[in-house]
Amino acid sequence: MAYRKAAAILAGSCTVSAFQSTLLNRGIPLSSGQHNNLRRFSSNIILAMNSGPSFCEKCGTAMEIRIPHGDERERHVCGNSSCGYVSYQNPKVVVGAICTHLDRVLLCKRAIEPCKGKWGYPQGYLEIGETTRQGAARETWEEAGVKFDASKCQLLALYNLAGIQIQTIYRVDLDDDTFEAGHESSDVKFVPWNEIQWDELAFPTVHWGLEHALAMKDEEKPIVQERTKLVTMDGQWKVEEG
Ligand SMILES: [Zn+2]
Repeated sequence: MAYRKAAAILAGSCTVSAFQSTLLNRGIPLSSGQHNNLRRFSSNIILAMNSGPSFCEKCGTAMEIRIPHGDERERHVCGNSSCGYVSYQNPKVVVGAICTHLDRVLLCKRAIEPCKGKWGYPQGYLEIGETTRQGAARETWEEAGVKFDASKCQLLALYNLAGIQIQTIYRVDLDDDTFEAGHESSDVKFVPWNEIQWDELAFPTVHWGLEHALAMKDEEKPIVQERTKLVTMDGQWKVEEG
């Protein structure tokens, strides 16, 4: 659920006031002071607050959002003072792989929300214990039944998204074009670069990644594209290079 919401926010054109609505919809009361704070705090903090737990994972007490002693940011803090557990919310890491074979790129049709029915390269959340390249290889295996040597892929792009998600995207040239759609994919295929349907891609980042992979396809060592998507204090999306 949190992933859906985050992905929808990242994919869309939400404003800061939409984040406020989200907080209210989740039953998180906002005092007039907090409303003012919402404008003062970065959107990163707003999003992080939104994705925190409602109850303490140590003792089950309802969590409060406040600044813990010695800290400078609002956190989810256990309401039980004898427990005092602080749940730190940090950005999630998404890993992806743009796989090619004979000038064609591997694309998967999403069988799940968000963006069900749209196309993208294999990607998903990094698991505990994995390196980012190992995670990219695992996601490719899970979504497309394609295996590659994680040590052989090359870093292609790094995307910082609204302070809640970091994407590391690799590229790899495959030895063959066998595949088998996993349960998260309703279809998988190798698509010639000039036949990609850019309007049918799942997320802006998928567009960015493929566009950059295409630009770098003849380079032995690709330039790593670094991009940041953020929300300005007037609630508008902004994309910055680097
Ligand atoms: Zn607790």
